[in-house]
Amino acid sequence: MLSPVVTEKSEQLVQLDAGEPAAVTQTPLFGLDAEALTARMVAAGEPAFRGKQLAEGMYRQRLTALEELTTLPKALRQRLALGGWEVGRPRIAQVFKSVDGTERYLIECRGGDAQTVEAVWMPEGDEGESGDGTEMDEAQEAGKSWTRATICVSSQVGCAVNCQFCLTAKLGLQRNLTAGEIAGQVIAILDRHAVEVGRDRVNLVFMGMGEPFLNFDNFMAAVRLLVKEAGLSPQRMTVSTSGIVPGIERFAQEPAEVRPKLAISLNAPNDEVRSELMPINRKWPIEAVMDAVRQVRLRSRERITFEYVLLGGVTDQVKHAREVARLVRRSGLPAKVNLIAWNPGPGIAYDQPQAGDVEAFRLTLLDAGIPAYLRKSRGRDIFAACGQLKRTVEG
Ligand code: SF4
Repeated sequence: MLSPVVTEKSEQLVQLDAGEPAAVTQTPLFGLDAEALTARMVAAGEPAFRGKQLAEGMYRQRLTALEELTTLPKALRQRLALGGWEVGRPRIAQVFKSVDGTERYLIECRGGDAQTVEAVWMPEGDEGESGDGTEMDEAQEAGKSWTRATICVSSQVGCAVNCQFCLTAKLGLQRNLTAGEIAGQVIAILDRHAVEVGRDRVNLVFMGMGEPFLNFDNFMAAVRLLVKEAGLSPQRMTVSTSGIVPGIERFAQEPAEVRPKLAISLNAPNDEVRSELMPINRKWPIEAVMDAVRQVRLRSRERITFEYVLLGGVTDQVKHAREVARLVRRSGLPAKVNLIAWNPGPGIAYDQPQAGDVEAFRLTLLDAGIPAYLRKSRGRDIFAACGQLKRTVEG
């Protein structure tokens, strides 16, 4: 995806050749795919392969400064810098470490204007991918010598959806992230942990701050960058939506080679409760969401995930589990349910569910033939757990 700014800059690069003065502001190359970079290079009178070299340097070698891109001639690097270009990858500005190994990051976007977004690294994951058709078998687990982790990625600064149990909602929507800012969170974290793509098993979940389907174009452009330029598998990516029907319908049109798996943030057994907890349900009720989800052509063994936050006394009783089981069965979708015991946040008046209720809920779903898994709560002590992301600097 090319923004108008990028187009202007590419003209500046061309004009530099004609002796124009250098631009003063810096524009990130990070976020442009190989095709767009190639077009820039060709427009500037450079060979087309320079675009591929730039993409390779930024997304595979994870270089962060023009001077490190030594596959390019020094003169070209200098011209790019004088033309106002920089690599401009989002930068990890602060790290919070949990006792359980989880790390939460404040990631600085837009050249250090102090606007930060959050992402989370969970070593060994949170069991979120259990039962979705891509989990490892015992033979793969045995004797592994590679890293396994899950990265939770944000798609917006804040969120407009206003789910009543979520701390991010308190921020309201501040802005959409660009494709480079979404993909940049991932590349910066892969870099920090020296992840080797192809060997290490890292899952991405687009479940951080924001509603990805309300920033659809940038979200999908980021996925394409991560798949095509960085070499990550879309089958190890899951995007969660609160149920934005037009977004789900567009998502259903994406080709399998770049389409992540889909999770629906259900969180309630029926429309009445869901509309209370998630006001978005008044616009797109459960059946409308299910209709849209049925348009997604699933890969073999792939399942839709229904995320379900258990709120003590509100949504966590056996009668709710029975309703959820009926709802999932009626959908006719190959599906599983991920249960999340609600993580408390300041200013949110719900109760954590009792461990006994959580287990009874899970067993009720299993008895009804619905695969159900309890997602591990990771990094609660550093405000990194599900629903807690709010750029909290204490912790
Ligand atoms: S749960 Fe997700 S969609 Fe709902 S307010 Fe929080 S970030 Fe937004």
